[in-house]
Amino acid sequence: MSDKPHDYCGIFGVFNHPEAAVYTYYGLHSLQHRGQESAGIVTSRFDPEKSIPSMPQHKDFGLVLSVFENQKIFTEKLLGHAAIGHNRYSTSGSAGNATNIQPFRVHYKNGNLAIGHNGNLTNGSELRERLEERGVIFQSTSDTELILHLISHSKKTTQLDQIMDALQEIEGAYCLVLLTDDKLIAVRDPNGFRPLALGKQGASWMVASETCAFDINDVDYIRDIQPGEVLIIDRQTLESGEPRSLFLERKKDTSVSQCIFEYIYFARPDSRIFGENTDKIRRKIGKYLAHEHPLPKVTSTKTEKHPIIISVPDSSNTAALGYAHENQKQGYECKYEIGLIRNHYVGRTFISPGQASRDLKVRTKFNTVKGVLQDRVVFLVDDSIVRGTTSAHLVKMIRNAGPKEIHFLVSSPPIIHPCFYGMDFPSPKELIANIYDQNQDRIAEAIGVDSLRYLSSEGLVNAVKEAQPDGLGYCTACFTGQYPVPVSPHNKEENEYY
Ligand code: SF4
Repeated sequence: MSDKPHDYCGIFGVFNHPEAAVYTYYGLHSLQHRGQESAGIVTSRFDPEKSIPSMPQHKDFGLVLSVFENQKIFTEKLLGHAAIGHNRYSTSGSAGNATNIQPFRVHYKNGNLAIGHNGNLTNGSELRERLEERGVIFQSTSDTELILHLISHSKKTTQLDQIMDALQEIEGAYCLVLLTDDKLIAVRDPNGFRPLALGKQGASWMVASETCAFDINDVDYIRDIQPGEVLIIDRQTLESGEPRSLFLERKKDTSVSQCIFEYIYFARPDSRIFGENTDKIRRKIGKYLAHEHPLPKVTSTKTEKHPIIISVPDSSNTAALGYAHENQKQGYECKYEIGLIRNHYVGRTFISPGQASRDLKVRTKFNTVKGVLQDRVVFLVDDSIVRGTTSAHLVKMIRNAGPKEIHFLVSSPPIIHPCFYGMDFPSPKELIANIYDQNQDRIAEAIGVDSLRYLSSEGLVNAVKEAQPDGLGYCTACFTGQYPVPVSPHNKEENEYY
């Protein structure tokens, strides 16, 4: 596992397009950052010769480009006017289990049904136990399969009612794309933990975890799917020009709690999520970081050059720009520089097991621009620190380039609690902020920098509020321990120690 949190997935769906699978392929390619373990597409196809609707699928381990390398998959297999797709990141315990690759596709009494899920159910263990007692046999270890069983066991008669019935049972974080023989259904949980957007191109409708998946397909962004919304796109939509919506109720005493970490690190900066551009939010975060931790007042002289600000590419670039801009505005002499270069072609399977040191792993991903760093006071901006192992190796690499000083700025608060809503952090005892009791000087020493400072939780929330005054609420549980949706003890245990 790299030393960054991982989200579990990216999802995409298309209705009413002759090249539904191809659009899904490009969408998944744009969402690759949300999951790199496996990828899959299911299409919905009505075969006039057989008069039987079918759902062809193709899925495998690997990146989107390699899973769908053979173009015949699109011309001979994944035919149909509707499709859903899924990129998956899996927890270490289930990485090699092919039955967990999504989308899941089943055939049951009401027809074909396929599902793709981004998130994590907080009552998954209870539901599994209950279904097992009823004699249900599971093929995978994934929460997503539970939803399919709940649908097929529903006593309701129509497929839509069965889906609504199942959705009332599940709790936690989930964005879903569901494909039936005649519908595309998109669902966002009532707390709205993960992002999901609606797009349109001509008479074709699409949904995606992030809008960057619309841009690649030249699709117009229409709006976000609202927290608790169940959006139904079918023939009726094509006639009326509008999808229909049903709404799920939020649990009592909980409020909308969109994952603030999506803005800090996870979403692509060119995506619009939760009603705002990620780039804009990250710049504000950089601005607040500058308010809390401005540069030291150094006036450059012939012998003393001004400090430089560099970022850990790519996710920290925008916050670093915001930090540099605000310092300059406040009269501090500084310059944003490209001091680290990232190699984008490092696959997750690049390292031969046991051969490469952590040092080498970091070097396969980053290199320094020595001429930029030499003899300078360097302010390094990174979006988050998890274990701190990668940061320490990165700092060592920067030291080798000969800077005078290295100061580390983190554009998020210390991560001290686990996430139960679809982001994969190591166990709390492995988090560097916990190891050193959040003592910034001790963390600085462990990482090997001259100083280290975090953005405060208040600073983070205020930055997001300034960029988005009318925005909905946010989850900050991994920083504050304030969990917006209760987690059952069993799920808690499982999540903390996987
Ligand atoms: S705990 Fe952190 S990572 Fe998880 S949903 Fe909340 S803000 Fe996001």
